[in-house]
Amino acid sequence: MVSLSNHAYSVPLWWILLQARITLVRLHLLCDNGRMIILLSNDDGIQSEGLTALEKGLAKIGEIYTVAPDRAQSSMSHALTLHRPLRVHELSPRRMSVDGTPVDCVKLALTGLLPVKPDLVVSGINKGPNLGDDIIYSGTVSAAIEGTLLGIPAIAVSLVSFENFDFTAAAEFTATLIERIQQPGIPAETLLNVNVPHLPKDELKGWKLTRMGKRHYSENIVERIDPRGGKYYWIGGDDLGFAHDDGTDCVAVHEGFISVTPLQVDLTDHKLLHEAPLPHFPWP
Ligand code: MN
Repeated sequence: MVSLSNHAYSVPLWWILLQARITLVRLHLLCDNGRMIILLSNDDGIQSEGLTALEKGLAKIGEIYTVAPDRAQSSMSHALTLHRPLRVHELSPRRMSVDGTPVDCVKLALTGLLPVKPDLVVSGINKGPNLGDDIIYSGTVSAAIEGTLLGIPAIAVSLVSFENFDFTAAAEFTATLIERIQQPGIPAETLLNVNVPHLPKDELKGWKLTRMGKRHYSENIVERIDPRGGKYYWIGGDDLGFAHDDGTDCVAVHEGFISVTPLQVDLTDHKLLHEAPLPHFPWP
């Protein structure tokens, strides 16, 4: 188990001493002993009100660093920018934008941009759900996954709405969730995917631990003609609902509960591996 405030790694002594020194310097500089350090990112861009809501909501429980894309990067999944330089702009102390993807932001932040090692990565609050299949495409979830890959506990948060966003309850729940799971922490290589129904706090029914559900989209491709006569395409797809399977994120949110889905990065199909192996054949 990885505690949110007390990482346990098998690392060389010099590294521990270096980290201890960095921590002491940081504590001295910030006079902020014992507070959790939280890295925030998102995929809607640094200007998103969802990100601002998290910054405000989590400032009560931790020391916040924000590193987020300089523009909307939804559906970028786990894209990493490898073929051009990345530019970082410090907008204010501890608040930076990057002309890259959500994963670029978290990777940069955790591998040198920040002067400290965060205890937690939180991504969001996304404008729109990340339920079921959405998770595969989501830049919001991938920013959290990058935290997990780099050994930092992570949470992705999304608001299940596409308009008139009110992030109040989602930000408040996220702060409470972080406080309540601080001990014993969440297992290494697990991240939490949180989806909050767009309801006032007193109308939310509570929260549930869930599994990934299955959403249905129409697979529309819209073909149009540009002013110069060339064809172009929009990837579309109308929301056709979801599979009503018990215990899923989709059903919980539909019923008015906040959904908390523990996700793992290991995509291995353990069931097939152990129970129904592929036919053995010699090759070559
Ligand atoms: Mn988004």
